[in-house]
Amino acid sequence: MNRTILIILVFLFSTNSYSQKISISLFNDLSLNTVLITPTAGNYKLITAKGEIRLLTDQIIYLSKVGDSILVRDANSNLGTWARISIVGQSGEDVIRVKPILPSFPARKYNDNISFYVEFNRLMTINLIDREKYISCVVEAESGPNREDEFYKAQSLIARTFALGHLEKHKGEGFNLCDGTHCQAYKGFIGFDKSIYEATLATEGEVIIDTSKQFITAAFHSNCGGFTANSQDVWLTSKPYLVSVEDKYCTGTRNANWEVAITLKNWKAFLQTKGVDTTLITDIKQFNFKPVGRPVYYPILNQKIPMIQFRTHFSLRSAFFSVQVRKGEVRIIGHGYGHGVGLCQEGAMQMALKGWKYDKIINYYYKGVKIVNITEVAPSSPIIDGDIEKIDSIKIDSAKTKL
Ligand SMILES: [Zn+2]
Ligand SMILES: [Zn+2]
Repeated sequence: MNRTILIILVFLFSTNSYSQKISISLFNDLSLNTVLITPTAGNYKLITAKGEIRLLTDQIIYLSKVGDSILVRDANSNLGTWARISIVGQSGEDVIRVKPILPSFPARKYNDNISFYVEFNRLMTINLIDREKYISCVVEAESGPNREDEFYKAQSLIARTFALGHLEKHKGEGFNLCDGTHCQAYKGFIGFDKSIYEATLATEGEVIIDTSKQFITAAFHSNCGGFTANSQDVWLTSKPYLVSVEDKYCTGTRNANWEVAITLKNWKAFLQTKGVDTTLITDIKQFNFKPVGRPVYYPILNQKIPMIQFRTHFSLRSAFFSVQVRKGEVRIIGHGYGHGVGLCQEGAMQMALKGWKYDKIINYYYKGVKIVNITEVAPSSPIIDGDIEKIDSIKIDSAKTKL
């Protein structure tokens, strides 16, 4: 076996949890059949079981699944058919563009190496990338450009804590993480914003652990509306570090306030599905609700309906709102965007603008946690349990709400 392929396989199936490399399944939500690949920077080799082919910058290579193998062609000729090929960068600053053709999907650019093979009746596309470059790309996907360095550092710790805490999430499939919402948003080399990469490198290897030295569930959301939420009020699972805190920093920002109207008929219909006998309500003012702080329940007659159930049913931006009924219309006056648990991105950005350092921001939103280098965390620390899976799926869902 070619030495380079062997090295890649060792990386992919390595039991060393905290390698400098990480393997990500690309376009994981698609069932790829055909892609075009084009080196755009650096110096790449195409490595097959039969040897190596040097690729030129801007050269277009066509890869197509044929049975259990990959047919490889360039503009002029058929290069061969193999069970597995790898595109391996030689310069350390290599970037390759991948354009899915079947099914069609917008092209993305990736750093470092990519292996292709057929499994699960699809063309698997596995990016073996330097861990810190991957973290930087995730931060860019989740935070956008032109933010403060200290905010990017805080987001780097969150992305790294998730990645290193879930290295075994796709163990049975032969890679660490996928690029979809199931794991964390990764769209490759977007602008590869230099300031984001520098913020990531400035915190290289740093992760957040709880008092039991476990990686925390580093939940975050766009805007808490003035108070973050307790994790048990949103996901039923209590975490000592995911407790409600007052946040005066996000209340003047973009996603701080919102308002929607719902017909009284629809409001009553929903309450009835929760067992509320709305015929007993004699005055529509009984529907009104003005909480102090972040409410957990909406009180009506002798019942309490969890606020999160309204959020889900009416697709509200958050579960933090007051209610005013006027002329057959229910006005929902809301605060914040997202589930409200953990770090509030817009609050954290304001803190960074005021000169807060990333560790102070992290410690404000996650109570009693510690920032340590990954080398101080025992390799047995990665935790996978049902609760975490559940929390992650909601967290990532909210993370999609771009600022
Ligand atoms: Zn995944
Ligand atoms: Zn906030």
